[in-house]
Amino acid sequence: EKGDTTLSITVIGASGDLAKKKIFPALFALYYEDCLPENFVVFGYARTKMKDEELRNMISRTLTCRIDKRENCGDKMEQFLKRCFYHSGQYNSEEHFAELNIKLKEKEGGKLSNRLFYLSIPPNIFVDVVRCASTKASSTSGWTRVIVEKPFGRDSESSSELTRCLKQYLNEDQIFRIDHYLGKELVENLSVLRFSNLVFEPLWSRNYIRNVQFIFSEDFGTEGRGGYFDHYGIIRDIMQNHLLQILALFAMETPVSMDAEDIRNEKVKVLRSMKPLQLEDVIVGQYKGHKKGDKLYPGYTDDPTVPNDSVTPTFAAAALFINNARWDGVPLLMKAGKALHTKGAEIRVQFRHVPGNLYKRNFGTDLDKATNELVLRVQPDEAIYLKINNKVPGLGMRLDRSDLNLLYKARYTREIPDAYERLLLDAVEGERRLFIRSDELDAAWALFTPLLKELEDRKIAPELYPYGSRGPVGAYYLAAKHNVRWGDLTGEE
Ligand code: NAP
Repeated sequence: EKGDTTLSITVIGASGDLAKKKIFPALFALYYEDCLPENFVVFGYARTKMKDEELRNMISRTLTCRIDKRENCGDKMEQFLKRCFYHSGQYNSEEHFAELNIKLKEKEGGKLSNRLFYLSIPPNIFVDVVRCASTKASSTSGWTRVIVEKPFGRDSESSSELTRCLKQYLNEDQIFRIDHYLGKELVENLSVLRFSNLVFEPLWSRNYIRNVQFIFSEDFGTEGRGGYFDHYGIIRDIMQNHLLQILALFAMETPVSMDAEDIRNEKVKVLRSMKPLQLEDVIVGQYKGHKKGDKLYPGYTDDPTVPNDSVTPTFAAAALFINNARWDGVPLLMKAGKALHTKGAEIRVQFRHVPGNLYKRNFGTDLDKATNELVLRVQPDEAIYLKINNKVPGLGMRLDRSDLNLLYKARYTREIPDAYERLLLDAVEGERRLFIRSDELDAAWALFTPLLKELEDRKIAPELYPYGSRGPVGAYYLAAKHNVRWGDLTGEE
C-alpha cells in the first residue's frame, strides 16, 4: 500500500536564507534517517531563475551528515539531490502554480499524493502564495498542508486578518504555524521532566517556586540585516512567540493526554489566565556603538538598513503574571536581547527559601543565594542542572552551592537533531502538538498588543546599552521591584 502514495514537499522561497540554512539540510537529515516515505520529491519554488542542477548545487553546499553516521554520506546526498527539482515563478501567479502542479503530477506518476508546502518567504506574500497553491496546486487525492513561518502579523488585528485570509483557502488543520523553539530538544523535554518525574511536578506552583525566568541572549547585532527587524523589534521577534510559547508549556496545567488538541487547550487556558503586559512591568533597550580594544562595535542605528532615529527595542525585559490558583503572585520574567555579552537561551526556576533553615547561619546574610535553582539550558550546550546546597567535604561544617548536572553532551553521544527536523517530520506525519493553533496565537497577541501600541504611540525611548554588555540597568531594577535577581547565562554570579 505504502508504495502507492507519494509525498511532495515544495519549499516556497527556495532561493532564500532559511531554505538554504535550515529547510533543505533538515529534509536531507530526515531522508538519511529513513524518516521520509519511500516515494517523495522535493521542489524548490522562487522567482530566481535556476535549473534543477543549480538548485542541487546550491543545496549540496549546506547538507551535512551526523558525526556518528558518516558512512555512505556522499551516496545518500547524491540520491537525495536526485529527488530535488526547481520551478521558477511569481508568488501571485496562479498560472505559474498551475505549471508547478503539472510538474508535481508528473513526478507523482498517478499515485495517491500528499503535498506539503513550506512558506519560507516574507509575510506580505503569504496570502498570495496560499491562494495560488491551494487553488492550483493542491493535492486532489491526498492531504495538502502548509507550514507558515513567523511573523504571524505584528499585532492582534493584523494577525487575525492573516488568519482570516489563510482560512479562505485552508482549514485550520491544514495550517502548520511553526515556532522553531518548540522543536528544540530541551523545550520538548520540559513536559517529560514535569510529568514523568515525581520530584518536579509537586513543586511546580506558587507554594515552592519564587520566580521563573525565560532568557534569550544573542552576542551579535543586526549587522546590516536590520531592515526586517526594525519593523518588528525584539518583543515581537522573540518574546511574544518563542519565550511565551515556552512559558505556556512551562506553566500549563496537566493536559488530559499528550494529544495535540489536549496540549494546545491547556496552553490557551494558561495564556488566557494572564494579565496583558503593562508598561510599568516592561523595560526596553537598544544597543549603541562601543569600542573594545581596537575593535569598534556598531550601534543599532549605525546599521545602514535601520533609520537613524529608530526607537525599535533590541532588548526588552518584562514581568508577567498568571492569575490562577497555581501561579498567583509568582513573577515570570522574560529577558531577550541582541548584541549582549553572551549567547544562549535558558529557563531558570528559582525556588523559595527553606523555612526555618537549620543551616541559616552558614549562608551569612544572603539567603537568596541559598535557594535551589533549576536551570534548563536550551542552547548552546543543552543541559539540565539543579543548584543545591552541599557540605564541603572536611571536618568543619562549610556549605557551598553545587550542581546536580545533566550535561547532554556528556550523557548522550547522539547528536541532537535540529529543531527543523523534528517539526518537518511532525508536519509530514500530521502531528500538530508543536504547531500553534489560531486561538493560541490570538491569546498570545492579546497579551502583547496593548503594550506594543503604547510603546509605539508614545515613542518610548529605549535605554541605550553598549554592544557586548549585559544590557540596560533598567532590567535589574525591574527584577528587583519583584524581588528577583536575574540568573546569569555565563554561570558567573
Ligand atoms: P529571505 O531570504 O529574505 O526570503 C526568502 C525568499 O523570498 C528570497 O530568496 C526571495 O526569493 C523571496 N523574497 C525576498 N524578498 C521578497 C519580496 N520583498 N517580495 C517577494 N519575494 C521576496 O527570507 P529568509 O531569511 O529565508 O526567511 C524566510 C521566512 O522565514 C521569513 O518569513 C522569515 O521571517 C522566517 N524566518 C527566517 C529565519 C532565518 O533564520 N532566516 C528564522 C525564522 C523565521 P526570489 O527573489 O528568488 O523570489
